[in-house]
Amino acid sequence: MAARPWVKRIRETKQLKVFNKAKSWAKPVGAAIKSFNNLSLGVAVVAEKEEKNANIVVVPGENAAPEYLYRDSYYGEVNVKTKPDFKADRLHGRAKPLMDADSNEIFFAVVFLPGKLKGATDGQKEVIVVHELIHACGFDEHDSAGVMASPMTEQDGGLIEIKDAKPMPPIRVGSQTRCKVKLLWSGEACQKE
Ligand SMILES: [Zn+2]
Repeated sequence: MAARPWVKRIRETKQLKVFNKAKSWAKPVGAAIKSFNNLSLGVAVVAEKEEKNANIVVVPGENAAPEYLYRDSYYGEVNVKTKPDFKADRLHGRAKPLMDADSNEIFFAVVFLPGKLKGATDGQKEVIVVHELIHACGFDEHDSAGVMASPMTEQDGGLIEIKDAKPMPPIRVGSQTRCKVKLLWSGEACQKE
């Protein structure tokens, strides 16, 4: 696995527009957009009102293996699918980037969320959304620290990545994650922390 860049015309804007179709997740998605932008990753996410203008569409998965039909005048129609192990009632998510065949760069991404999840707190959902948004930015791996750890454990209404950590939110991000995402979006090399 490696970090994957977005296509240049989008990368240069240092911004990804997010359209949320998961109505029951509106509050945690809104909170996640704010927290994401506080992480200093070199890219911002903004809420987009028109689905057709979005770079990332957030989709509620109502059953196993949900799908999203992407339509574009240049790329045509692409049916974006999750792996069959996606569970609509489990606290998790799945980011699926679409890759330009020539440049091998991302031109669109779908974030699937569990549409039948019960019992999770808004805070836990926010952590899941930030995790998947960072994947959608091109970070195709996991970190030992912070929100990109996997798996995370439920504690006190939040999620933790290691024993005795403080429950998120507030969201924290590991130095590996910040470093690699920043490099993808700004070309800034990592500094040792
Ligand atoms: Zn992950």
